[in-house]
Amino acid sequence: MAGGVFCYLGLGSNMDNPQQHVRQAISELDNLPHSQLINVSPLYCSKPVGPQDQDDFINAVACLQTKLEPAPLLDALQALEQQHQRVRERHWGPRTLDLDILLYGDRQIHTERLSVPHPFLTERAFVLVPLADIAPGLTLPDGTNLDVLAANCDRNGLAVIPSRL
Ligand code: AMP
Repeated sequence: MAGGVFCYLGLGSNMDNPQQHVRQAISELDNLPHSQLINVSPLYCSKPVGPQDQDDFINAVACLQTKLEPAPLLDALQALEQQHQRVRERHWGPRTLDLDILLYGDRQIHTERLSVPHPFLTERAFVLVPLADIAPGLTLPDGTNLDVLAANCDRNGLAVIPSRL
């Protein structure tokens, strides 16, 4: 597939072998229609935001070049979440797979279903650090420099997971 918009997607899981959920989701992203997986960050381990009586999260960020418009892309990501039998019992609680659209090119989107850039993008180390791994020097749509945000964020125990050979 040639062409399309460069999107950055956040992946997270903290249930039922989270590394496997995230690795499998990465290969599923590669199979999305009209899309091509361009790059994936290392996997990270992060402390949960919100309720602390849950397991740590595995997070990563992927770059996808896609011809899907934002709403169909969100539909496709939510279908993948469902395939992973995501169960949401409480806000910010455990989940088998969470997929977020962090950036969709340099578009700013504010609809009932979508806020892009993702509202927590600039606040969460588990997003900023892996995003800066695969998009060093990126300027966010509001002109902010990603590297500066990533270098100064509170890492809150964020740790890279050594890659498997
Ligand atoms: P959560 O699973 O907690 O990330 O929230 C899912 C809800 O967030 C869905 O209903 C989406 O419509 C909405 N949403 C708003 N902006 C985004 C975004 N940038 N990426 C993914 N979901 C989003």
